[in-house]
Amino acid sequence: MNQIKIHNLTEKTSFNSYEDFETYPTSNIKCPTCNDEISIGFNDLKKHQLSDYSNLSHADQLEFERFTTESVINKPNSFLDYYCPTCKTPIRLLYESWAGGRHGEYGYDLKTILTKEKEKEKNTGHNIG
Ligand SMILES: [Zn+2]
Repeated sequence: MNQIKIHNLTEKTSFNSYEDFETYPTSNIKCPTCNDEISIGFNDLKKHQLSDYSNLSHADQLEFERFTTESVINKPNSFLDYYCPTCKTPIRLLYESWAGGRHGEYGYDLKTILTKEKEKEKNTGHNIG
């Protein structure tokens, strides 16, 4: 399991209802394994805020849960799980949903990406040397 700061994978890390609601910009997040990008928009973050819904298999989901609890400091209140469409690496985006400031203002701050390394093919042969 790897934990990667979001700044290393995308330039847009914060969304604000005042600035982003009508223009629908997306955050293009690179896959740590294959470098292909996935677009995450305001609505994706809104849909998953404070939710337990996961797009991953139950087993992958549990591994992320365990890792998040044990290893993520200041655990954000929301997450978005997905498989990279290209290489199928399981990925969890951790983000903080907030509300306040100006009237009716709310938004999302992207924090951290967790990835599970794909299982390497087991070497069943006999190694010599
Ligand atoms: Zn990938």
